[in-house]
Amino acid sequence: MKIGILSRNKNLYSTRRLIEAAEERGHEVHVLDVLRCYMNITSHRPSIHYKGEELSGFDAVIPRIGASVTFYGTAVLRQFEMMGVYPLNESVAITRSRDKLRSLQLLARKGIGLPVTGFAHSPDDIQDMMKMVGGAPSVIKLLEGTQGIGVVLAETKKAAESVIEAFMGLKTNILIQEFIKESGGTDIRCFVVGGRVVAAMKRQGAEGEFRSNIHRGGSATLVRLTPEERSTAVRAAKITGLNVCGVDILRSNHGPLVMEVNSSPGLQGIETTTEKDVAGMIISFIEKNAKPHKTRTRGTG
Ligand code: ADP
Repeated sequence: MKIGILSRNKNLYSTRRLIEAAEERGHEVHVLDVLRCYMNITSHRPSIHYKGEELSGFDAVIPRIGASVTFYGTAVLRQFEMMGVYPLNESVAITRSRDKLRSLQLLARKGIGLPVTGFAHSPDDIQDMMKMVGGAPSVIKLLEGTQGIGVVLAETKKAAESVIEAFMGLKTNILIQEFIKESGGTDIRCFVVGGRVVAAMKRQGAEGEFRSNIHRGGSATLVRLTPEERSTAVRAAKITGLNVCGVDILRSNHGPLVMEVNSSPGLQGIETTTEKDVAGMIISFIEKNAKPHKTRTRGTG
């Protein structure tokens, strides 16, 4: 097969591993910088050009679209879909998962456990909304933050109000969440490929840090999932419509709560921790599923 990897940097661990796994299986791989793809939007014969040449003959593309280039990246992916190229994850599903509020609403609609979450527009409504989500301590998040940036733990009501006011003053969208204290600065990353959890790890924040992101100095260990955690992760992936994703779960004293579904989960942490060939599983999923003109918008809303 001829496989394209939409990635801005071919030296990143995840990109390198995907190239390696695909080449090992005899595929031809091209890494394409999504910002250098340009296209003509026509119903007759949509095409994509790259550094002066027209792209052709691709059987599948693996989107590894960074959060900062979501808008352009998903437009390029959509163009591939119009050309009948099989996307590992569909553009619509990626767009859904990039908006935390939208994805939480979709998950809530299908009965997935979530931390109690509030969202408001006017500063006048902060006080009442804070009460609604159970008061302090609470977690305040930028709607489109990643890697733990823009996630704040406000220990007191006063602190929460000041942080919310500051964010609102900057005209950024935020959500306010109940703080799941019992998870103790840990979360569970479930790596889903084709409707199955193929690997999982527990991430622990650095000393004194409630955020468990590895980018914030957290560390990862092996974890055994409960059947409920496993099925929650699989359902969350299905609802979001992602074939490959990382589902982040908090262990609360009333069961697993989904924090987020990540459409470009990193491979380094999960492969090193579990010693599993996750890149290989992704390529074999593509081998089994890639067919021309297969894109159909799955998931909900
Ligand atoms: P990002 O997408 O930026 O990683 P997350 O929503 O995943 O943001 O939050 C980052 C980290 O903060 C999580 O991995 C988790 O450890 C911690 N965290 C987030 N929300 C909560 C919460 N409601 N209760 C307890 N810890 C939380």
